[in-house]
Amino acid sequence: MKKTKLYSVLYNKCPYCHEGGFFLSNNPYNPKTFDKQHEYCPVCHSSYMPENGFYYGSMYVSYALDIALGVALFILSNVIFSWGTNVFLILFVGSLLLLWPVIFRKARLIWINLFIKYDKTKAANKA
Ligand SMILES: [Zn+2]
Repeated sequence: MKKTKLYSVLYNKCPYCHEGGFFLSNNPYNPKTFDKQHEYCPVCHSSYMPENGFYYGSMYVSYALDIALGVALFILSNVIFSWGTNVFLILFVGSLLLLWPVIFRKARLIWINLFIKYDKTKAANKA
């Protein structure tokens, strides 16, 4: 599990060493810190900003996650349970509102992991 991109995304870890934290706080629902990232990895000191405006691209990932959520909820509410379109819309809008800080953060982690590979020479704990 460790050393895979999924590990970095799921546990909010540095995409280079998978040890340093990516965000200042692990709580996506703290309104003051949910969008605050470290500038550099606290463990391997790699930059989390490969270039200016790097994270604009994460909006596409965020959009893709929103669509995936919508498709999953549509299947749940209309294919599995036949609850109808109104229930689907309430579920979809409700979960978008509830999950947007999480989706925002996961989109950034997925985005940077598309470009950065795990580098074992950067890991302090080389197990
Ligand atoms: Zn690191």
